[in-house]
Amino acid sequence: MIKLYNTATKSLAPFKPIHPKRVSIYSCGPTVYDRQHIGNLRKSLFDDLLKRTLSIHGYTVYSVTNITDVGHLVSDEDTGEDKLEKGAKRENLTALEVAQKYTQLWQEDLHKLNIIPSDHYPKATDYIKEQINLIKRLERKGYTYIISDGVYFDTTKFPEYADFAHLKLEDQEGGARVDIGDKKSPSDFALWKFSPQDEQRQMEWNSPWGIGFPGWHSECVVMADSLLHAPFDIHTGGKDHIAIHHTNEIAQFKADTGKPMANYWLHSYFLTIDEAKMSKSAGTFITLDDIITQGYSPLDLRLLVLMAHYRSDIDFSWDSLQQAKQSRQRILTFINRIQNLPHHKRNLNIQKLIRNTYTSFRRALFNDLDSPQAVAQIFEFIRTINSAIDNGEPIPRRHIIKLFQRFERILALDILEKKESQEIPVDIVELFNQRNQARADKNFAKADDLREELYNKGYTIKDTSDKSTLSPNSD
Ligand code: AMP
Ligand code: ZN
Repeated sequence: MIKLYNTATKSLAPFKPIHPKRVSIYSCGPTVYDRQHIGNLRKSLFDDLLKRTLSIHGYTVYSVTNITDVGHLVSDEDTGEDKLEKGAKRENLTALEVAQKYTQLWQEDLHKLNIIPSDHYPKATDYIKEQINLIKRLERKGYTYIISDGVYFDTTKFPEYADFAHLKLEDQEGGARVDIGDKKSPSDFALWKFSPQDEQRQMEWNSPWGIGFPGWHSECVVMADSLLHAPFDIHTGGKDHIAIHHTNEIAQFKADTGKPMANYWLHSYFLTIDEAKMSKSAGTFITLDDIITQGYSPLDLRLLVLMAHYRSDIDFSWDSLQQAKQSRQRILTFINRIQNLPHHKRNLNIQKLIRNTYTSFRRALFNDLDSPQAVAQIFEFIRTINSAIDNGEPIPRRHIIKLFQRFERILALDILEKKESQEIPVDIVELFNQRNQARADKNFAKADDLREELYNKGYTIKDTSDKSTLSPNSD
């Protein structure tokens, strides 16, 4: 039995899927207007942990992760610029090209992190008709009103609106608050936004209400329902989705159908830097490429994330990544040591320890995906076996390798198979850092020499206005 913390009931409860053997999951995916940072990737790693845990329990997992390629405004409250249009202006590309570029880069990141792909990656722009139909139904049922900039959901018509996130709507009404324009209540949200009169948007569609584009919160409702037939089992998101995005999804689906959208709502916490959420403007936006460029494997980040519970924030630092790297190295060294031992069939104590360790490992994961506890079991095991080897005990090598094969179904740290290393050697990282310094000192001649030296050693530097990245030569 697996226990999961359900945000909807605010409690840890046994997980019971709708179908006894299959689990359906919908995960809110990225808005593809820029690189995903390692905070966003933490969310994807959480989804991966959830799916892998369900599959070692014996469930078949069917999962959908959406791609938001339109209509997500800079603020969750439906104000500000559209992120995609903004990205297009910044890069001199079309909004569609921006979306394609960053979708692809994100998927490459997922691959490098050994994240199991979802069965579907639907795009919001492919579901415009369904979103318009949803809004039409909500309109017919009396849940909407129209103001100068769009069609809005009237949250006062949906009495359960505040329940999911335990919102205190009275607090939003009074006191210091943001300008709500012509909206009737602060919590009302846009279902359809009109294109500005004086501006031709790249992404806009005809609708019964006028030319415009959908608000962010409708896309997940229609995509999840189209692909999973709500109510489905589990809906995931980052914890920032609880109060607005998921609250608004729930309101639309229930207002439309009278049914809940999903049975379990799971939310992963943040990856922060200096206790603050990662942000580009504060210069704390770290990508997977930055990590690789500094000589780490993406799998070091994977282990760092697994070593924290998904319901606690991870305060990222390069030191903590270094520790994760050492921890992964310890596992690799151990496996290497084991692989070089002769196999002894019998050592009842160790055989028992193997069974108990795997039981504790699973038990930890089945207890609300307690991955730090599960990983702790592995290091405890390594310590015990290392001393057994030191004491000259017979080692059932094959049983131990089999145990680690089982661990790998969750860890996916490439500890057993030799893949081509993604790590950049230390001397290359050192040259790269010297080159960054030369650039910062405006010593461009030296910077160019170092770039050439790196190229001759097999690495290409790419410069953008705010930073440089390093990757193996593509030719
Ligand atoms: P976005 O592209 O902004 O829609 O975010 C994609 C996913 O990443 C969402 O599920 C967010 O909740 C999650 N997310 C955003 N920032 C962070 C962060 N710093 N740490 C963890 N998850 C995050
Ligand atoms: Zn969503």
